[in-house]
Amino acid sequence: MDQCIFCKIVNKEIPADMIFENEKIIVFRDINPKAPVHFLVVPKKHISSLNEIEKEDKELFGEIFFVVKETAKKVGVFESGYKTVINVGKGGGQEVPHLHIHLLGGWKN
Ligand code: AMP
Ligand code: ZN
Repeated sequence: MDQCIFCKIVNKEIPADMIFENEKIIVFRDINPKAPVHFLVVPKKHISSLNEIEKEDKELFGEIFFVVKETAKKVGVFESGYKTVINVGKGGGQEVPHLHIHLLGGWKN
């Protein structure tokens, strides 16, 4: 997807404050944080939204949620707790049409 901002981050065409990367997933800091701790866990594969996931993506999403947990440890909210949010479509408040999981926390310890 040529114009997709998260694909551009995946392809290193635009910078991001990346804290994790493997062959399938990246994690970077949200540029406009809605919480003291706000990261985005993003599959490298362009999937527009949760509505577009296929059965073949099952394994990928298991791994994504494992990365969410590991990220929570890395950014210091594992013990205190955190929220995960997936916005789906315009009505769900999704602004970037490349599926991502918000990891939000750090309000209290
Ligand atoms: P959503 O509304 O669920 O699509 O969330 C998109 C999120 O991506 C918002 O929280 C934005 O602040 C964030 N965002 C947009 N562009 C960038 C960027 N270049 N780097 C990091 N985060 C971004
Ligand atoms: Zn994309």
